[in-house]
Amino acid sequence: MNNERILISGAGIAGQAAAYWFSHFGFRSTVVERAPGLRLGGQGVDVREQAIEVIERMGLASRVRAAAADVRGMQFVDRVGKPVARIDIQRVKEKIDSAEVEIMRGDLVRMLYEITSGSVEYRFGDAIVSLDPESDGVTVGFERGRSERFDLVVGADGLHSAVRRLAFGPDAEFVRHMNHYFAFGDADAALGPDRWVTLYNTPGTVAGIYRSGNHEQAKVYLGFRSPRVDFDPRDTTAVHRILIDRFGGEDAWQVRNLLDNALADEELFFDSLAQVHLPSWASDRIVLVGDAAYCASPVSGAGAELALTGAYRLAGELAAANGGYRRAFGEYERAHGPVVTEKHRIGPNLRMMIPRTRFGIAARNTITRLPIMESLAGMERIMAPRTPTPLPDYERVLCGV
Ligand SMILES: Cc1cc2nc3c(=O)[nH]c(=O)nc-3n(C[C@H](O)[C@H](O)[C@H](O)COP(=O)(O)OP(=O)(O)OC[C@H]3O[C@@H](n4cnc5c(N)ncnc54)[C@H](O)[C@@H]3O)c2cc1C
Repeated sequence: MNNERILISGAGIAGQAAAYWFSHFGFRSTVVERAPGLRLGGQGVDVREQAIEVIERMGLASRVRAAAADVRGMQFVDRVGKPVARIDIQRVKEKIDSAEVEIMRGDLVRMLYEITSGSVEYRFGDAIVSLDPESDGVTVGFERGRSERFDLVVGADGLHSAVRRLAFGPDAEFVRHMNHYFAFGDADAALGPDRWVTLYNTPGTVAGIYRSGNHEQAKVYLGFRSPRVDFDPRDTTAVHRILIDRFGGEDAWQVRNLLDNALADEELFFDSLAQVHLPSWASDRIVLVGDAAYCASPVSGAGAELALTGAYRLAGELAAANGGYRRAFGEYERAHGPVVTEKHRIGPNLRMMIPRTRFGIAARNTITRLPIMESLAGMERIMAPRTPTPLPDYERVLCGV
C-alpha cells in the first residue's frame, strides 16, 4: 500500500473513526490529541441513516444500542418549572419505525478508543504547530518540540481545526457564525425529570437539563443568541464570565443551579454555533474530516453521522485507490459532498429552541401542544431527502467483487 503512514489530529468521533478504518484497510495511523486524555463531554449525539451501517461494519452496533440514551422527549417549562408544552420524540420514532440511536457523545468516544487503542498509536497532550508539505510527504512540527515525517495528514480537530488553519487559511474564511452560543456540561440529575430534555426560555436564551434513563449523570444545556463574541474557548475564566453575564441574574426554575453546575464542570464545552464551508476538503497530502471540514453545528443533529460516514469513506477510498491520495480525496469529496450539503440545511429547530421574543416563546408552545406536531415531525423525517450516494462496501471493492 502507498502512503501508509498517516497522522490524524484530534481524537474525537471523526479522528478515531478514521483511525479505525485506516487500520482496518492496512494503513498505520497515529492520533495526536491536544487534550491530556479523551474528551468525554457533550450530550446525546444521533447515529442516523448511513452512520448506522458504519457502526454495524465496525462491529459496534450492539454496544451502541445497549448504551443508547433513553430519552422520551423534550418539554418546555414555565418559570416555576411547570411543563407548558412537550413533544414525545419516542412516539415519533415508533411511528416512523426509525433505526436511529441517540448515544452520549462520551460513550461513543470511549467505545471508539477501545476498538482502536490496540492498533493505533495515540499521543495525548500534544498538537501540530507546523505542516511542511513536500513531494513525498509532510514534515510535521509538534508543540512538544520535535518534527516528524508522515505520508498524509488528516485534520479531525473540530470546528477550530489547527490543521485547517495551517493548510487552508484562517477560521474567518471558512467558519460561518450562526449568532448563537451553546454550553454543555455535567449536571446534578436531581435538577430535572428522568428521560426528558427539560428547557426553560427567556427571549433569546435557553437553559435546560438533559436526562437519559440509562445514565446517572445529567447534562446541563445553556444557549443564547448573540452576535460574534471575541473569546478563546479554552480560556475558562472568559467562558465563565460570558455565562454568568447571561444567566447569573435569572432566578426562574432551576436556571441558577444549572449555571452553578456548568461552572463547576472542568470539562465544560462552550462554543459558538457555527458551520464550516470549504471549497475543498483536501490540499495536496492534507485532508479534513468531521467538523474540521464540514461542521453542520449541534443544532443539525448530524455531527456524529457526518463524522462516522466521512471517516469511513475517506479511509475506504484511500484503500480502494491503493493509497493514491489524489484520486481518493477527490472521490471522498464527490461522494460525501451531497450528504454534507443536505445536512447544512437547518430547518426551524433553532427558532423553536430559542425564540427571539416572548410572543415567539408563546407561539412555539402553542404549536408544540398541537396534536399534529408529532405527525408533522414524523412526516419531516419520512420526507427528508435520502442520502443520494449509497455507502460502498469497500471490502468488496478491494476484493474486486
Ligand atoms: C467536548 C465536546 C463536547 C461536545 N458536545 C456536543 C454535544 O453535546 N452535541 C453535539 O451535537 N455536538 C457536540 N460536540 C461536537 C461533536 O462532537 C461533533 O459535531 C461531531 O461528533 C464530529 O466530531 P469531530 O470529531 O469532527 O470533532 P470534535 O468532537 O470537536 O473533536 C475534535 C477533537 O480534536 C481535538 N483537538 C482540537 N484542536 C486540536 C489540535 N490543535 N490538536 C489536536 N487535537 C485537537 C479536540 O480536543 C477533540 O478531541 C462536542 C464536541 C466536543 C469536543
